[in-house]
Amino acid sequence: MIKSFYPPMRTLMGPGPSDVHPRVLAAMARPTIGHLDPAFVGMMDEIKQLLQYALRTDNPLTMPVSAPGSAGMEACFVNLVEPGDKIIVCQNGVFGGRMKENVERFGGIALMVEDAWGDAVSVEKVRAVMEQHDDIKALAFVHAETSTGVRSDAQALCRLARDYGCLTIVDAVTSLGGIELEVDAWGIDALYSGTQKCLSAPPGISPVTFSERALDKVSKRNTRIPSWFLDKTLVMGYWGGGQKRAYHHTAPVNALYGLHEALVMLQEEGIENAWKRHETHHEALRNGLEAMGLQMSVAADIRLPQLNSVAIPEGIDDAKARGQMLENYGLEIGAGLGALAGKVWRVGLMGTSCTRRHVMLCLDALENTLLEQGAAIHAGRAAAAAAAVYATQNK
Ligand SMILES: *Cc1c(COP(=O)(O)O)cnc(C)c1O
Repeated sequence: MIKSFYPPMRTLMGPGPSDVHPRVLAAMARPTIGHLDPAFVGMMDEIKQLLQYALRTDNPLTMPVSAPGSAGMEACFVNLVEPGDKIIVCQNGVFGGRMKENVERFGGIALMVEDAWGDAVSVEKVRAVMEQHDDIKALAFVHAETSTGVRSDAQALCRLARDYGCLTIVDAVTSLGGIELEVDAWGIDALYSGTQKCLSAPPGISPVTFSERALDKVSKRNTRIPSWFLDKTLVMGYWGGGQKRAYHHTAPVNALYGLHEALVMLQEEGIENAWKRHETHHEALRNGLEAMGLQMSVAADIRLPQLNSVAIPEGIDDAKARGQMLENYGLEIGAGLGALAGKVWRVGLMGTSCTRRHVMLCLDALENTLLEQGAAIHAGRAAAAAAAVYATQNK
């Protein structure tokens, strides 16, 4: 007889999911009601408002797609790309490659702007491609590359797209809630995010927002949107304003209670305070890691506070070390991806996993695990170095 499943206690400091706050878990355990119940519809309106707050936008089409970040990505591309459309796709890690897949699968032409894994998207390279073509429909890029821990200059890229009259499609899966993100002020046209990174809600939902300009492009399409489920013109019959909601699909009712609670918590803290919190704990972690003798693998000016790429010291068995941290500390950190596999660890400080408790646990676990494997690190310095950062911040 198979028994009930009880997950082990873990502390999640990888590339997502991050720790889900007990308030959010409790919200998800509340009674399931109908997805067209007037009380549920009221909560849906609040989720929209809270997402508009978190994304800093007034876009009426701001809603959670009932599927993970990858589906939010697909929702943006399937609505905005038509066969033959030229789309600039920036790639400096894993997720830009998925954008290319999307563009090509929907018949578009992906004009690739490639930068090394660990570098930011080059605004100048994008400008050069825009100069070469006069019929580019959109610029697509990843704001926070979770595969490498790099932040690209979304504001400058959006300004450039505006100058050349093309739309922007932005991956903000890891940026939302962790670093400054301004949909309206930066002129972002289509954006998708995720719930399991800095929002610390359960995985499986993807907030998206579309500007008026993006909706205008959708309404002027010559071809039918080749996805029924992700067709924004249809799903708005359910997520659109007013009490007249038509059945489109059954919303993940309890998961949305969780997202609602996570967004309420973000609003209570204040989005700008959340950005500052990520910066503070990142500084403490960085100072601790460096005091131990470890090296951050991304340049300081483009580092993401919520995703810290750390070089694995010589002679350390990557998988074994992560296994020991999981076993001895219940701590999950992320492995490197692609070319960075075995070379870096990705330490997430996302949302609920971005606290002093997490920073200190991670430094302790890393230090002892590395010492056990015989790494030549400085023992006994990391905790004090992190504490020194908190002392200057009055935390
Ligand atoms: C996690 C992530 C995704 C994919 O989200 P899923 O919820 O796993 O589908 C896309 N882009 C970036 C930058 C991510 O970090």
